[in-house]
Amino acid sequence: MTIVLGIESTAHTFGIGIVEDGKVLANVKKSYTTEKGGIIPTDAGKHHEKIKNEIYFSALKEAGILDKTIDAVAFSQGPGLAPCLLVGMKFAKEISKKLNKPIVPVNHCVAHLEIGALTKARDPVMLYVSGANTQIISFASGKYRIFGETLDVGVGNFIDNFARYSGIGFPGGPKIEALANGGSYIELPYKVKGMDIALSGILTNLKQKIESKAYNLNDLAYSMQETVFAMLVETAERALAHTGKNELLLGGGVACNSRLQEMCGLMCEERGAHHGRTPRAKNALQRAKFFCPEKSLLTDNGAMIAFLGEIMFKSGIKYSHKNLDKVDIKPRQRTDEVDVLWK
Ligand code: AMP
Ligand code: MG
Repeated sequence: MTIVLGIESTAHTFGIGIVEDGKVLANVKKSYTTEKGGIIPTDAGKHHEKIKNEIYFSALKEAGILDKTIDAVAFSQGPGLAPCLLVGMKFAKEISKKLNKPIVPVNHCVAHLEIGALTKARDPVMLYVSGANTQIISFASGKYRIFGETLDVGVGNFIDNFARYSGIGFPGGPKIEALANGGSYIELPYKVKGMDIALSGILTNLKQKIESKAYNLNDLAYSMQETVFAMLVETAERALAHTGKNELLLGGGVACNSRLQEMCGLMCEERGAHHGRTPRAKNALQRAKFFCPEKSLLTDNGAMIAFLGEIMFKSGIKYSHKNLDKVDIKPRQRTDEVDVLWK
């Protein structure tokens, strides 16, 4: 029986999860939000600092455990905003020292991927769409490889920026999704470059349309979703074709969007429906299965950090509470830099 506590603090959310042998016992979080304007990193850090103890004690309570039964403390090492990451790491070190238990530094993006195991996806292509990150990732020869990504901003930040420009606070995604209901289609630039996508040109175009006052926000929200999600689905499908894999896993906060989920599901179904008449055409379009974790595991959360932390801890990746000075944050760590020694 192994119990691991995981701390998430890469950006807007401070969360603590507790996992016992792959089972989530607790997943408590609070997010920094604004009425107007985006995230100010130092303010988000202060928010995390203020609530960390409250989140810690409610996680222990939710899990129904005493802290002395914890075997290891995992934390999000990166990528993320330095002032936010520091709060999580310092808190992890504090707990590790107090309990005399090892610490496990976890890559945030890989944690989003690995928690997908709870959906029963085995070897998926993952469409990871969060605030700061937009990547199409899959495991190949010892690493999570990035098959495609945004060339500029993450899709969540792009949506939040569009929302902010429309006078909506942070996070903008859920409100934009609501506004998109009932909108009609207006053509927007469509920017797919090979396996990558670009969003800043579309953002400029949307801002110009808002400023012109010639469009209503429902139509812009609807058209933004239809255009940008089609770009994501197109590149994800190409990654399925390229890798020959037949599972698509969605992750990250933007994955909460029901239209994106619907479009991903349709693409996976339709891959199978177009079976050609020749054997070659049949092989080329293999039906894919679509997986999406439950909402509480999609946006940033401590449970996914504890979940991957436990896997890493069990394969011997850890630092003793006497070696804490060897552990630091990695604000710019990339998914494909992580040596996946546990698989
Ligand atoms: P994460 O960084 O993974 O926690 O994801 C946060 C991002 O998800 C923010 O940019 C939100 O605006 C975005 N988001 C959350 N819910 C939705 C939604 N329903 N539709 C689109 N984006 C969303
Ligand atoms: Mg995230």
